[in-house]
Amino acid sequence: MKSEVILAKSAGFCFGVNRAVETVYDLISANKKVYTLGPIVHNPQIVEDLESKGVKIIEDPKDAEEGSVIVIRAHGVTPDIKEAISESGCDCCDATCPFVQNIHKLVKKGSEENKVLLMAGDKEHPEVKGILGEAKNEYFTFQNEKELLEIIENHPELYEKDIFFCAQTTFNVAEWKNCLKTIKKVYTNASIFDTICNATAKRQAEAEELAKVCDAMIVVGGKNSSNTQKLRDVCQKHTETYLVETAAELPKLKGKNKIGITAGASTPAGIIKEVLVTMTEIFEKEMSFEEMLEESLKSLNTDEKVRGIVSRITATEVYVEVVGRKQTGYIPADEISADPSAKPEDVVKLGDELELLIMKTNDQEGTIMLSKKRVDAGKGWDILAKAKENDETLTGKVTEVVKSGIVVMSNGIRVFIPGSHATSNRGENLDGFKGKEISFKVIDVDRPKRRAVGSIRAILREERKAQIAKFWEEAEEGKAYTGKVKSLTSFGAFVDLGGVDGLVHITELSWNRIKNPAEVVAVGDELEVYIKAIDKEANKISLGHKKAEDNPWEIMKNQYPAGTICDAAIVSMTTFGAFARIIPGVDGLIHISQIADKRIEKPQDVLKVGDKVQVKVIDIDFEKKRVSLSIKEAAKAEEATEEAAE
Ligand code: SF4
Repeated sequence: MKSEVILAKSAGFCFGVNRAVETVYDLISANKKVYTLGPIVHNPQIVEDLESKGVKIIEDPKDAEEGSVIVIRAHGVTPDIKEAISESGCDCCDATCPFVQNIHKLVKKGSEENKVLLMAGDKEHPEVKGILGEAKNEYFTFQNEKELLEIIENHPELYEKDIFFCAQTTFNVAEWKNCLKTIKKVYTNASIFDTICNATAKRQAEAEELAKVCDAMIVVGGKNSSNTQKLRDVCQKHTETYLVETAAELPKLKGKNKIGITAGASTPAGIIKEVLVTMTEIFEKEMSFEEMLEESLKSLNTDEKVRGIVSRITATEVYVEVVGRKQTGYIPADEISADPSAKPEDVVKLGDELELLIMKTNDQEGTIMLSKKRVDAGKGWDILAKAKENDETLTGKVTEVVKSGIVVMSNGIRVFIPGSHATSNRGENLDGFKGKEISFKVIDVDRPKRRAVGSIRAILREERKAQIAKFWEEAEEGKAYTGKVKSLTSFGAFVDLGGVDGLVHITELSWNRIKNPAEVVAVGDELEVYIKAIDKEANKISLGHKKAEDNPWEIMKNQYPAGTICDAAIVSMTTFGAFARIIPGVDGLIHISQIADKRIEKPQDVLKVGDKVQVKVIDIDFEKKRVSLSIKEAAKAEEATEEAAE
């Protein structure tokens, strides 16, 4: 029989604990000196980590250094302690869970109405102590039906009084149900507020169901945590149960085929994962932690949607008036937007009407916890799926650049764009994308696995196709372009005209005779070209670069006609004369007889390569591209000019 490890659907940090722990980490990041009134969470590993980051646990606000921040944990505190914090000269950061705050309000209101409180819970528990601090009249606490019956028996005067009941958020659900039967029979007019937190109730119910079908249960959490202990109590009614703080404490479970794992509301995901991985290794089970978490996410009540009008925005929550319910709801900051860097005030404004999903509800007067992110995400997945189907382009903001690509936030969904799909060329640096708005195509959507993959390259490819089509439509002989030299060969340069490459033959690159294109152009150079010839059917073009007005023979015709006296440079020698460069591309011959007015044996007797000489253009043969020059004639002409001047 194959062994199995099953993770309870709801396991780990509840909303309130998560909110409190994140509050402390946020304060540390803001370089604040932080004190917590008691451990922020009943989990030694987290407490140890916070201590290593400088967070100190105190019991009395007087022990905090003036100017620092004192954090009230999710359990809440009495009004007296809040008063003491404000007198301590420290800032107060109240991370009391909104569900606990709600009980404070109920008890305060009951006291103002002179009602007597009967509270199910442990009077020594910090949450209960904080709540009882709001009770200004007589109050009683009980931990089970037996203790409730004792109160009933010993206090007959309560029949005559206005009384109300509420429960510690982590009170055992089954025990509460037992007590309720008695309460309803005895105190028929009492107001009853079921203030057990959904997170607790759900964990306990799921743990119990799991325990019923497992050979053993592992409860992961702090040994001092009351909700972890209650989970253990619930499970051990049905099966062998072990409470562990870390994977290192896992017992040897030989002969067990089905092991259930659950975790208290103050147990971080990392520790649950560690336990799960260790157990899974033991049982060689292949289902990943992510898959199990995915399964657990499915358990969320995602059916009920409401509309809410934004009434207050804080750094950590957005409050809304729920339309048609006369109830206030709140959206925790991390349920507002899928973009973790977005601040609540940047996403919503006062008066905005939002479509929201109910995450948790408490009793009839309770606060409703809502999510905007999940509604947006639901719509977002539809948009993404439609965009993929219709090959539409979407836009989004790049929120992360990771090793293998970029992450884009689009319609509330994180879309991954692999590096190979981010740019037109592989291996380009992606850092420049961070924070930019980009357009992309959806190439894969897998909603159950919450995976969306996009491609910018698909758009670049389309743009390039359109650009090429436009080029061929508009291209004609003689049309000029500024292109970029893409590559060089021995016979010419390929120039990119914007998606279409054309060849500039070596003879077209320069009027001078060159042996290699690299003598005049380099890859990446911009080059003025024009279409010399085009074959649209074969998609071929040849390009010209040389301009007629730069043709040196044209320049000779216009600026150096026969008879012109000009400067030239000796570039080479032969036995019958020397060649001199008049302009680039035109070298003329000075015959040996035209070098000097006396007889010379060889040109080298009076000239050397590099000499600058004055010459007269005697003759130009444009057809044969030959020029005859004379130093002797130039000198004579010079003399004649000087004589005329005298
Ligand atoms: S268990 Fe419920 S009431 Fe307690 S901190 Fe968590 S969310 Fe808040």
